[in-house]
Amino acid sequence: MSYIDLHTHSTASDGADTPSELVENAHKKGLSAIALTDHDTLDGLVEAREAARDLNIELVRGCEISVSADIGEVHILGFWVPEKADKLESFLSHMREKRCERNSLIIKKLQKQGFQISEEELRENAQGSIGRPHMARILLEKGYVSTINDAFDKYLGKGGSAYVPRAKMDPVYVVKLLSGLGATVAIAHPLLNNVPADKLESFIYGLMPYGLDALEAWHSAHDEAKTRQVIKLAKRFNLGLTGGSDYHGVIKPDIALGEVGTGERISGEILENLKNLHKQKGLPC
Ligand code: AMP
Ligand code: FE
Ligand code: FE
Ligand code: ZN
Repeated sequence: MSYIDLHTHSTASDGADTPSELVENAHKKGLSAIALTDHDTLDGLVEAREAARDLNIELVRGCEISVSADIGEVHILGFWVPEKADKLESFLSHMREKRCERNSLIIKKLQKQGFQISEEELRENAQGSIGRPHMARILLEKGYVSTINDAFDKYLGKGGSAYVPRAKMDPVYVVKLLSGLGATVAIAHPLLNNVPADKLESFIYGLMPYGLDALEAWHSAHDEAKTRQVIKLAKRFNLGLTGGSDYHGVIKPDIALGEVGTGERISGEILENLKNLHKQKGLPC
């Protein structure tokens, strides 16, 4: 039996492990394959590929794109994103610019509330695709909050006093873009935000004509019931299934690489099925 993890983050976005450390950790955990799915960036993939080659781990080139949709925030995973994808790179660069604008507004709100935090500091403490977890870490290091979760609950999360909504982005555009480039497209953690079932279903249905391939059933935020619910939904819509921990390293200490909310490891069969789906479309993995 082989085990995998198709949802992980590195320091190229808000993970705590460098891409090489992430691959080394996957090796230690005995995983045969991982997908690096950093938020709005492909920048960690070259380093990860080198490390994966050295340790004989299969690396799936991935990314996770955050969009603000009518049903709230939705994350879209792309797998087997091509190496030469100028259109995707320029889209991701646009998304990162939007992130910077939002980060700057959040910092201003925090400053107004008396916190000693600056944009320069944020840039010094982070590289790549910067977001709220990096700000949470600064608030934690300065003793303003006792945990990262606390920073989200009080200040950075929805309902928090420094919350700024993400700029709207049409999920159809993202699905079309990824699919058009030959990537396999999945909705990440569909049950994370407790969207009402009918709204979620019509959202998923609406993306299917544009190339949506799969739903993420196994995830650290999905217990057995939620995992089963997603599997059922995917069957009904004739979609594939994916699974990953959403590992971020020490920044999210409750999430272990290669493990999901049901307490299980993720079977290599899930990757094989996804690959078959990908190949059925005539695309190389
Ligand atoms: P951003 O991309 O700037 O909107 O930040 C969102 C990211 O913050 C998510 O992808 C998660 O990795 C992380 N996040 C969201 N809520 C929490 C939380 N309560 N505790 C820790 N991390 C969180
Ligand atoms: Fe994240
Ligand atoms: Fe996500
Ligand atoms: Zn993620």
